Amino acid sequence: MSRNLLSRAVLSALLAGSASFSALAADPVLSSPIENQVREIEPKVISWRRDFHQHPELGNREFRTSAKVAEHLKALGIDIQTGVAHTGVVGILKGGKPGPVVAIRADMDGLPITERNDLPFKSEATGEYNGETVGVMHACGHDTHVAILMGVAEVLAAQKENLSGTVKFIFQPAEEGTPKGEEGGAEMMVKEGVLDNPKVDLIFALHIDASLDAGKIG
Ligand SMILES: [Zn+2]
Repeated sequence: MSRNLLSRAVLSALLAGSASFSALAADPVLSSPIENQVREIEPKVISWRRDFHQHPELGNREFRTSAKVAEHLKALGIDIQTGVAHTGVVGILKGGKPGPVVAIRADMDGLPITERNDLPFKSEATGEYNGETVGVMHACGHDTHVAILMGVAEVLAAQKENLSGTVKFIFQPAEEGTPKGEEGGAEMMVKEGVLDNPKVDLIFALHIDASLDAGKIG
């Protein structure tokens, strides 16, 4: 995760309704407060990410993660729905001006993998996966996705009055699949109406990639 990446995610969301993205993104009046906010918030995003990394949870079991997300969104004054597709959280931020409904989605689940790194925020979590006790790790990077989207929510909430449209923050459980015999993930969120009320016009998501240098989008 890098400042550039976060900044671009924020700008994409904020300006998604505009026909002239590059012109607006280059506008110093619009871009610099956001750049500053992003710079300020970066240490918080890093510490959230490390906290989630240390406390990964398997699909449909993201109880601690979703509670942290809900608490953060609530504190920002964002309307939330919890328990969507089991542990999903949806936040709705209504901007001060009319415009489209832009959704940004982050997945929250870890994997049944034992962490072998030696880091201060290494995971020692275990969980039950298909009847067996397994190590649990954010081996796919969803810890970063959650932390980034929490940061984006904080930056956009501070820009609420300037936003043209509504932003829907979607924190999705069980992207990696569900435990045997359980429903979940994006499909279940859609079934439960995550793309309605208000109806989503466009949606963004990102996935980090360890093969790319920090700050690059591939
Ligand atoms: Zn992934």
